[in-house]
Amino acid sequence: MGYYRASSQPGTLPLAFDLLARVGQILMLQFRRLRRSGRNRRRIKLLLKIALPLLVLYLIDLPIHLYRTRVARPDHDLDQPFATGCLDPSVTAAQPRENATFVMLARNSEIDDARATVENIEWHFNRWFHYPILFLNDVPWTEEFKDVLSRAVSNGTEVRFEVIEKGKWGFPEEMNEKEKTKAKLQMKKQGEKGVGYGDMESYHHMCRFYSGEFYNLEALRPYKWYWRLEPSVRYSCALTYDPFAEMARRNKVYGWTIALWETTDDYRIEKGIPRTPAWNALFQVMWYPRPSVVSEHDNAGNKWNMCHYWSNFEIANLDFFRGREYQDYFRYLDSKGGFYSERWGDAPVHTLAVHMLLSPEKIHHFSDIGYEHDTLWQCPGNAPMDEQLLGNKALADTGKMTPPSEGGTGCRCKCRENKRRRNINSECTSELTRPVAFHRPSWWERHNWVYHYAVNNPNNPRK
Ligand code: GDP
Ligand code: MN
Repeated sequence: MGYYRASSQPGTLPLAFDLLARVGQILMLQFRRLRRSGRNRRRIKLLLKIALPLLVLYLIDLPIHLYRTRVARPDHDLDQPFATGCLDPSVTAAQPRENATFVMLARNSEIDDARATVENIEWHFNRWFHYPILFLNDVPWTEEFKDVLSRAVSNGTEVRFEVIEKGKWGFPEEMNEKEKTKAKLQMKKQGEKGVGYGDMESYHHMCRFYSGEFYNLEALRPYKWYWRLEPSVRYSCALTYDPFAEMARRNKVYGWTIALWETTDDYRIEKGIPRTPAWNALFQVMWYPRPSVVSEHDNAGNKWNMCHYWSNFEIANLDFFRGREYQDYFRYLDSKGGFYSERWGDAPVHTLAVHMLLSPEKIHHFSDIGYEHDTLWQCPGNAPMDEQLLGNKALADTGKMTPPSEGGTGCRCKCRENKRRRNINSECTSELTRPVAFHRPSWWERHNWVYHYAVNNPNNPRK
């Protein structure tokens, strides 16, 4: 879960120029002072003796650093939409299913919002594919919730209501009372500092749960894939192919729709992590002398660009997340206590892991899926009319759609009118897709907020 911020991240270049200008200013001042008092010749020489070797070292280090942190450019785009326009659901849904399930964590009180989500996903996708829906709660479900949600699905969709088993929700089992008291105090302080949800204990539990224990649930054991749902999310296009089947066929592990900035979470990368293009894509390369002990910097002194996938939408392979590598990483984070002493969210945790442990072509941007939650959304432009299968029986009438737009991939999308902060078409999407992108926005295009990975929504002012 995360926060976006309205302004752009300061770019590396302006920052670097700023810093260099300041250092230059200070040096000039010192130099003038020294020169004015003539007897200081010796001191100037000494200064040069120290400064010159440092400069030489820096000049040697810089190209090595830039080389190690580069995001190599592939010779073609490695991630493409799985489909353009609509496919005939009576054909695509006749293919074999994957071993997959929807998952929704919710509270009993969210009954209306949960129902809205379920009705929406059923209409746009699951009335053809009938993947089961698993509801998870940390307390027992009310009869009302079970009743209403069982009736929200189409004929043929199975629903299950589970309570999270002991030990998988809440503070880690190895934490003692003293540590818990300390954690509670730290959460209270976060609240006072204004960290979003900082003083809400259950929110911390939720983030920790989705970061790691979720994947070890008994209820998920039979499945290989999950698709995460949340109360009050809205899909705005028809999805006429099976995303699980396509992920499997194309060897993808992690699928996402929206990438945005995180401003509250704080990471210290303490493990020796091999640099890959995907990993480097998470950082702004620093090309002036780099402090590596500052938080949110990696061990080479690069600043995390704060970009992460918004994890309330995820379609992903469970084997990856319950595998040893990921679970080791989660236990490592857990042992640092940051799910409570700070407010580490599952979104950045997943993002960092995916970029650390997977090769970039295993990550898929569902740029063709229309998705909204809270105030953020992605709504792709529609594919040409002849790809909209008007008159198709299985699709039926899906109401008034947004007119097609150039380069659009969507199937009968209904995008909202121009509003602030609709499509997150911009920097983070571009940053995180760099490892698989042959077509990249130039420095000048980025300066003008032009991004190639916009999803071609005509209602998008900054395209
Ligand atoms: P946000 O998206 O970061 O604003 O966080 P949400 O409040 O939407 O919470 C994320 C998900 O976790 C939603 O599906 C919530 O229903 C669920 N959730 C959060 N806290 C709890 C909790 O204490 N109990 C249960 N059962 N679900 C929770
Ligand atoms: Mn939410």
